Amino acid sequence: MLPAAPVQAHVMNTYGRVPIELSHGQGCRVWDVHGKVYLDALGGIAVNTLGHAHPKLVPALQAQIGRLMHISNYYYHAAAEELAQLLVQRSGLSNVFFCSSGLEANEAALKLARKFGHDKGIARPEIVVYEKAFHGRSIATLSATGNPKVQAGFEPLLEGFIRVPLNDIEAIRRATVGNPNVVAVFLEAIQGEGGVNPASADYLQQVRALCDTHDWLLMIDEVQCGMGRTGKWFAHQWAGILPDVMPLAKGLGSGVPIGAVVAGPKAAQLFQPGNHGSTFGGNPLALRAGIETIRIMEEDGLLEHAAQVGLQLQTLLSTQLLRVPGVREVRGKGLMIGIELDRPCAALVNRCAEAGLLISVTADRVIRLVPPLILTAAEADEIVALLVPQIKAFLAETPAAAA
Ligand SMILES: *Cc1c(COP(=O)(O)O)cnc(C)c1O
Repeated sequence: MLPAAPVQAHVMNTYGRVPIELSHGQGCRVWDVHGKVYLDALGGIAVNTLGHAHPKLVPALQAQIGRLMHISNYYYHAAAEELAQLLVQRSGLSNVFFCSSGLEANEAALKLARKFGHDKGIARPEIVVYEKAFHGRSIATLSATGNPKVQAGFEPLLEGFIRVPLNDIEAIRRATVGNPNVVAVFLEAIQGEGGVNPASADYLQQVRALCDTHDWLLMIDEVQCGMGRTGKWFAHQWAGILPDVMPLAKGLGSGVPIGAVVAGPKAAQLFQPGNHGSTFGGNPLALRAGIETIRIMEEDGLLEHAAQVGLQLQTLLSTQLLRVPGVREVRGKGLMIGIELDRPCAALVNRCAEAGLLISVTADRVIRLVPPLILTAAEADEIVALLVPQIKAFLAETPAAAA
């Protein structure tokens, strides 16, 4: 049994939380206040790239806190150029804007697209967005999001979006034909919250070509799938294409809040002083977290590691769940894995927590695994050993119709 949920009478009721109260972590494990240990296959929702209390990251952050944490963007700090350069080199793009979260990075991307349009004389720019997309919870980013549950209660939504299904190039052509106001296509390389749905390499290449033909910006939201999770720095790199705009956040600071928009030549000079800003964006602590995360990832070969352990994990899951009635598909890339069932399965979250495993369920019926990239082969085995029996028991006890 899980303990009773702690009372939080003064915190807004915004999340359906798992009734466990955590106290500390180490590597891929966290402990609750009663001393129970959990294997963390959620990693703070694809945030804790280096797990918890990483022995190389902690001293670097401690040193930074003792030197300088925040100064505002009125002043220069060398770490900004250093992290921007690291991101530019790894993405093949050219300039970076720093902020503090995923929605902020996407908000900046949407503003870049509108500015791109206005600079071309388009007064009412429109942006192609996707069914099942998730881009954040601000008014602009929830309007771009393709999930009515995220939008309900917050209408009117922002105008200027054209919605299409993923992996259907004809759908974009049909939705935009003869429309001179289109300025950009905005999509996740792998939809995260929407249920771990990858854009195919083929499709990304076709969208890139379409954007070139029409002089649209290709904007790829890598907030969740980026920063090495799939085995390349950015998930779209598997398709061998370059975006014009790429929002990042989640894994970039390995737990310290940081977001970034990386832009290529078509978008890198659109913002001029006064166009955009962020008080916390690019503060020295967040920048240090980004720099050290990248440095440690390379020192420890975590890209190759994520690809390898991710493949191991996905293969084991596929094998053990093969022909289990109720399991529809195991999919994903590297350490971003979704297991789709034929029925809603949110109940698995608490069941797994009870068994000592932290996971999430997204899009109602997709079990999502986005563990730290330091996950060992033994820990991957352990995830499978903990998760598979829970899935089987859940399916056996929960009739598809009644679920
Ligand atoms: C989580 C997420 C966001 C929003 O990030 P926040 O930091 O919660 O604002 C945006 N896009 C994608 C793809 C995400 O997964």
